[in-house]
Amino acid sequence: MKEIGECIWKVEGEKSGPVFIVSGGVHGNEKTGAHSIRLIKKNIESGILRVKNGTFYFLLGNLRAIDLDERYTDSRVDLNRCFTSNLTDAQVKSYEGSRAQEIMNVLRIEDNPADSVVGIDIHSTNTPSQPFLVSQKIPFELHATVMPYLKTAEALLCDPNLIFEGELLTLDEYYARRGLGLCYETGHADDCSRVEIIYNEIVDLGTALGVFESDEKQTPYASNILPPVYTLRESITLTDEGFEYAPGIGEGNFVPFLKGDILGYHGTRPVVASCDGVFVFPKLKKHWKVGKSLGYLTQIL
Ligand SMILES: [Zn+2]
Repeated sequence: MKEIGECIWKVEGEKSGPVFIVSGGVHGNEKTGAHSIRLIKKNIESGILRVKNGTFYFLLGNLRAIDLDERYTDSRVDLNRCFTSNLTDAQVKSYEGSRAQEIMNVLRIEDNPADSVVGIDIHSTNTPSQPFLVSQKIPFELHATVMPYLKTAEALLCDPNLIFEGELLTLDEYYARRGLGLCYETGHADDCSRVEIIYNEIVDLGTALGVFESDEKQTPYASNILPPVYTLRESITLTDEGFEYAPGIGEGNFVPFLKGDILGYHGTRPVVASCDGVFVFPKLKKHWKVGKSLGYLTQIL
């Protein structure tokens, strides 16, 4: 095991094989990811978890924000929007901008052959939520190869039309440049009860990929029981008029609505749902910024 960047580790197997990457703590207050990474490190160091084939990378994301137990540092720059060459001046000057650069410089995703990478970026939500997965692509291959091992996820959210940010800039999207990239939302940020479960799922997936050789027993899975898939339809963007959610909306993730429902108001202008679906990623008011999203409407696929 080599530390190839600050808190970025690489383990090579004996034979060639896929590239498997797991990250956590890209948002510093989301503890499940960071704890899972520490558990992986501990078990690799003690020999409980061994890399057999291919290359395994694991890393902690926003190191300064993890120390602060905050989503990001005082820069208020989101590390998970910095995995692009198109950074704003504020991003370039921030710790987060340079940390994203360091991660990309050492992982060098583009140097891998197409379809050779599986990357999982572990997150948690700031409002109560069931665990779920996010992928930019419509994920038929994800369903077959990855999803059966990530059994805690109760839904898969995909964003083929890039409604989320309008461009590719998250860490899982960076992984996806050479294969599959997934953001794994593991529940509420303050809830650390799933660390062992998530760790075991990562071990199962890595073992199935042929990367890990583990003493721990792989749990059986049912490939026919896969969670529902939702696609992002539209974003609600904060304007100068301010915003007020309709009762029940914005307090949690996956809140269902019907076509024609009023979801909230820009000043006095109502936002009317254009389809049946669920409301996802409601931002906490303290993270609201004019011109940025407050949350998203999705539709079941
Ligand atoms: Zn996050």
